[in-house]
Amino acid sequence: MRRFSVCSPSSYRLNPITSMATGSGSLIWFRKGLRIHDNPALEYASKGSEFLYPVFVIDPHYMESDPSAFSPGSSRAGVNRIRFLLESLKDLDSSLKKLGSRLLVLKGEPGEVMIRCLQEWKVKKLCFEYDTDPYYQALDVKVKDYASSSGVEVFSPVSHTLFNPSDIIAKNGGKPPLSYQSFLKIAGEPTCAKSELVMSYSSLPPVGDYGSLGILEVPTLEELGYRDDEQAEWTPFRGGESEALKRLNKSISDKAWVANFEKPKGDPSAFLKPATTVLSPYLKFGCLSSRYFYQCLQSIYKDVKKHTSPPVSLLGQLLWREFFYTTAFGTPNFDKMKGNQICKQIPWKEDHEMLSAWRDSKTGYPWIDAIMVQLRKWGWMHHLARHCVACFLTRGDLFIHWEQGRDVFERLLIDSDWAINNGNWMWLSCSSFFYQYNRIYSPISFGKKYDPDGKYIKHFLPVLKDMPKQYIYEPWTAPLSVQTKAKCIVGKDYPKPMILHDSASKECKRKMGETYALNKKMSGKVGDEDLRDLRRKLQQDDEQVEPKIRKQRPRLN
Ligand code: FAD
Repeated sequence: MRRFSVCSPSSYRLNPITSMATGSGSLIWFRKGLRIHDNPALEYASKGSEFLYPVFVIDPHYMESDPSAFSPGSSRAGVNRIRFLLESLKDLDSSLKKLGSRLLVLKGEPGEVMIRCLQEWKVKKLCFEYDTDPYYQALDVKVKDYASSSGVEVFSPVSHTLFNPSDIIAKNGGKPPLSYQSFLKIAGEPTCAKSELVMSYSSLPPVGDYGSLGILEVPTLEELGYRDDEQAEWTPFRGGESEALKRLNKSISDKAWVANFEKPKGDPSAFLKPATTVLSPYLKFGCLSSRYFYQCLQSIYKDVKKHTSPPVSLLGQLLWREFFYTTAFGTPNFDKMKGNQICKQIPWKEDHEMLSAWRDSKTGYPWIDAIMVQLRKWGWMHHLARHCVACFLTRGDLFIHWEQGRDVFERLLIDSDWAINNGNWMWLSCSSFFYQYNRIYSPISFGKKYDPDGKYIKHFLPVLKDMPKQYIYEPWTAPLSVQTKAKCIVGKDYPKPMILHDSASKECKRKMGETYALNKKMSGKVGDEDLRDLRRKLQQDDEQVEPKIRKQRPRLN
């Protein structure tokens, strides 16, 4: 084993700490944590084991094609993310093979498959990374219960995050801290800051006899039922630990860039060379250890004279991830407005047509539409680009429920992460964490500040590629002769704006004001009926205001 830092592996936070079984078979169940480096579950499974069964279970609900979904992919995930996952599995399999092992791929409902594996292989240890997502919390109870009742030792360390969210919640009196600053104060330095990380192995125990369980190689997309021409453009980001480490090394090779990293500064329209690391999909699948990333940043900070600090520094970004993991883990119904104590109750509008226009890049605002094309084609956008489209959908312009935007992101992002996605959608919709609903992103001037020529728009919306730059953010203002010359007639080749930003955002502010007042009056305990009444009132107000807005609407060519 090649170790990276200075302490012994016993300094890992184990969950639970268990004694070592020797001279027998072990099973390592990969779910996230798709890596060899800094993988304590793998380390523990391989130690003293005669045989090692490295398993990944393909859940057909997550992986197999569902033609009824709104974009190519399964019922749960867009095809970009499925491809990213398959690439990550291929890479993991190839690394395991170099160490004398391989990945055993099985198909089926993961809980049932795991129980069958335990029955068939008679292993002594079952090891898998602890996972705080509700899906795994439920699944893991079932598998752990079966394993324990069969005398199989279970080892499930916390290694997806820097901290164990339970520890922070316990330190905070049983509740998750609800602000980043209070999180930092309570969290302090993670123990992994000084842990020695196992980065590689000279070999792993051989795979035992796997009998008749229907073991597969990592499938291709086609084998899962996808066509080669499923997408017009694929994400440029390749999955896997090898890519993750390459990408990390490239990002941190420029120490000055790391030292001066300052978010939210940075250009959201930069797409040839993104302004941030694009390590999120690798962290999501655990192709990259957040603890290794953290140690790399620490060592750079030691080498430079001056560096930025949380919340804006690169290390501060990793801590945002921890913050959302902790609040998500400690908040019942974190992914819903209803029954979620930290979420303001807001009478969002139901409007399927508006939602589809936003989702399908047809709002008529090129900055918003281009970002949504990047989401569909690449599965990744800059943080501020995510801000703009999330604000536009919810409290900024359309007043549509954040849960519906969250669902679209959850499907299409390659870095889609349960805790971070829900947390940020609540943030952007002013439902939790952030409450300055008067601060709204303009779908026109915000992007223009960074990219006055509209290069980003022209790349992701080629229909506007010949539109002169003075009209690129508001093509409906271009004279018809200009639109004709640019081969883009607004209303025919590209949509008219679906709403007028100035009046729509004013309306949204008014609605948010009334909603906040109601939440305050009811001390946050807004019931279904209160919400229905307020929705009705806001609708009546809308009906009175609408004719005035229509009058103000510019005449479109
Ligand atoms: P960098 O700036 O290089 O940051 C390094 C790492 O820090 C990221 O890879 C990520 O793991 C973490 N990080 C950065 N910003 C945040 C943040 N605000 N909150 C939590 N962690 C952060 N990020 C996801 O990983 N998955 C999601 O599903 C997701 N959904 C989002 C939804 C909305 C509406 C918004 C506004 C943001 C969302 N983010 C999500 C957060 C953020 O936009 C991405 O993490 C970031 O843009 C990823 O790019 P990067 O790796 O280059 O980030």
